[in-house]
Amino acid sequence: MFSRRDFLIQAALGGAASLISPNTLFSATRPKKDKLGVALVGLGYYSTDLLAPALQLTKNCQLVGIVTGTPSKADTWKKKYNLADKNIYNYQNFDQIANNPDIDIVYVVLPPSMHREFVVRAAKAGKQVFCEKPMAPSVADCEAMIKACADNKVKLAIGYRCQHDPNTQAYQKFAKESTFGKVRMVTCGAGYFDARTTHWKQNKALGGGVMGDMGVYALQGARLATGEEPISVTAQFHTTRPDIYKEVEETATFQLEFPSGALAACHTSFGINMNYLQANCEKGWFKMEPFSSYTGNKGSSPLGPINFPLENQQARQLDEDAEALMKGSALIAPGEEGLRDIRVVEAIYKSVAAGGKMIKI
Ligand code: NAD
Repeated sequence: MFSRRDFLIQAALGGAASLISPNTLFSATRPKKDKLGVALVGLGYYSTDLLAPALQLTKNCQLVGIVTGTPSKADTWKKKYNLADKNIYNYQNFDQIANNPDIDIVYVVLPPSMHREFVVRAAKAGKQVFCEKPMAPSVADCEAMIKACADNKVKLAIGYRCQHDPNTQAYQKFAKESTFGKVRMVTCGAGYFDARTTHWKQNKALGGGVMGDMGVYALQGARLATGEEPISVTAQFHTTRPDIYKEVEETATFQLEFPSGALAACHTSFGINMNYLQANCEKGWFKMEPFSSYTGNKGSSPLGPINFPLENQQARQLDEDAEALMKGSALIAPGEEGLRDIRVVEAIYKSVAAGGKMIKI
């Protein structure tokens, strides 16, 4: 763990930065903390069931605030997590968070169409920003979010929890080190059966559609298992429930080509339960199933099983990102990483709109 002493030393080293940016964590006027204060924005499923419980296990950060449009949720959360009244905001008075020294990090956990607005507002308030995946519905949104954070000298991390999982890191290493020669073909699927019919995931304007949602896991699988960025894509959309998936795609299949010649065939769906990754290499293979779950990601290769223990994936992500902020070191998945995926997602929509044409990225 990152100790208080390390933090104080690092804070001193960061002194020069603080002169230019009074809002950063390294500000000389800001009291030093053992744990950074986190405010969750949007108290839906992921905040309620995963992030808030994980924030009870973290060592480098803690839940101290919330931003919600629902007063009854504010009451429940206040009692459950012992939150101070002054750390509870709604969407209207959110910008006043700028004056609240308890809150160092704002974590945006809203429907994707709202990510840009709240990331930009958080950055302007001088807060460090975490944002859930998909980063935003468009490349233009992602670029605006990255720029707002840079302009306000705050960091932006995307909630790619799997990149903090040692099981993901194990297969990334095979690609990086060419353990089995070059990776030639990745097959990857991420999906579940979503029984909801009127959720934001089925609504285009709110950033729904499976490509941004489960699709980014399949895309990350291909990118991380090759260690490369795709140069072209072809894609197809399908639905078995056209009455529900009127505006957005239920299932997507897409094929990627990488600079080395590696290929990937990816599948993602709100109607099919799947979670697997297989990489075939020049001299071997590796596979994971599941590869992007909250718990129990595991796999194998000719070298043996891949099965590293992990107490809580979200707590690991939150702690590693908070530690990077404290140390001023690189984030595992910064805004630029979210943007890389959305570039491909945009190309996938273009391919489908053009009847499955190959689109260069
Ligand atoms: P959810 O629908 O359960 O929660 C969304 C929250 O946004 C709710 O509190 C809702 O009240 C609020 N909201 C505000 N304005 C809204 C509007 N106009 N329409 C709908 N909701 C509105 O969604 P969720 O599953 O918690 O997803 C939130 C974010 O977290 C998304 O970006 C999603 O992709 C991401 N997520 C990530 C993971 C992961 O594993 N990293 C898992 C689940 C969700």
